[in-house]
Amino acid sequence: MRIAKLWSVGLMALVALGAVAVAQGGGGRRGPTSGPASGKGDLQIYFVDVEGGQSTLFVAPGGESLLVDTGSPDPRNPTAPRDASRIAAMCKLAGVTKIDNLLITHYHSDHVGGLPQLTALVPVGRFIDHGINRETADVQGGASTIAGYNAYQKVITDSHAEHLTVKPGDVLPLKAMHVEVVSGDGEVIAKPLKTPLATTGEQNPFCAASPLKDAENTENDRSLGLVITFGKLRIQDLGDLTWNKERGLVCPVDKLGKMDVYIVSHHGLVNSGSPAMVDAIAPRLAIEDNGPRKGGAPTTFDTIEGSSRLKDLWQLHTAEGSDAKHNVADSHIANLAGPDAGNYLKLTARMDGSLAVTNGRTGETVEYPAP
Ligand SMILES: [Zn+2]
Repeated sequence: MRIAKLWSVGLMALVALGAVAVAQGGGGRRGPTSGPASGKGDLQIYFVDVEGGQSTLFVAPGGESLLVDTGSPDPRNPTAPRDASRIAAMCKLAGVTKIDNLLITHYHSDHVGGLPQLTALVPVGRFIDHGINRETADVQGGASTIAGYNAYQKVITDSHAEHLTVKPGDVLPLKAMHVEVVSGDGEVIAKPLKTPLATTGEQNPFCAASPLKDAENTENDRSLGLVITFGKLRIQDLGDLTWNKERGLVCPVDKLGKMDVYIVSHHGLVNSGSPAMVDAIAPRLAIEDNGPRKGGAPTTFDTIEGSSRLKDLWQLHTAEGSDAKHNVADSHIANLAGPDAGNYLKLTARMDGSLAVTNGRTGETVEYPAP
């Protein structure tokens, strides 16, 4: 009961803070602070705090929506499930009454687990995934992966929504965003992306700094990875794609090219986000969906902060297992150590290449002009 009550207070605070966040601008660590926080022609990206899982809501101009992943299941609170309720609140704040596209990167419970509870709260138009689950019960967490996959299959069967399986090289059938699939089911794109916005297909000098690690052979390896182009902006989300699989995208030649926004792979855990990949994409902004004690690894922090074009890294949580030197300033963290209100981060992406990030905890917005 206590948890449920705290949660409902947190939800109200989240919605209230969101209203404040939309209404005001504010100061920040780097970069100017003036200018509009958002406008009708912008792409809005909301990073829901699902405590170290992923759930990222993209809302394009005109309202077309894409939700990437659904956080974890909450069997203890069937009437007010933590992650599904937070995502539903985020949808409400964003003006989304139906999730047009719900993409599942892979079938680990921190990504697909919240789906049945979420779809009971918000209708979905189309489900998108990489195809069948290949993780077996003998790997760690395999049983919950199978359970999450089966629950997802039941939702697809019971719903009248479209179901689409995609593979590397496919472009999602969205109108207002160009979304290319670069990885899925363990495979990656065969050829460099064709884009006028970035140079691709060149030898990557950073590969030698990222020797191979042990193969994982789990659903992480099979994550759907996306590159989103919006106006002059390129945004990368590879789900939990692992270190060795990243190499297929950036070594020996870089098939991705420079990115403006890096949605930090795998919550910032050490088995993803290699220097070979991060230094090649050289993002202007990085946003990490870590939990208090999941992801946000010190080496991941060093890799991102050391990349050549970075203006700012933002975190959903203080990484409590790290020291202050391996966390960003509190102003750039949505949830500090202590009672958790489930605060979000919001990224406003504009066609002209400018960006803004709003911290749902403080309501402050930091502006990043086009390069
Ligand atoms: Zn994950």
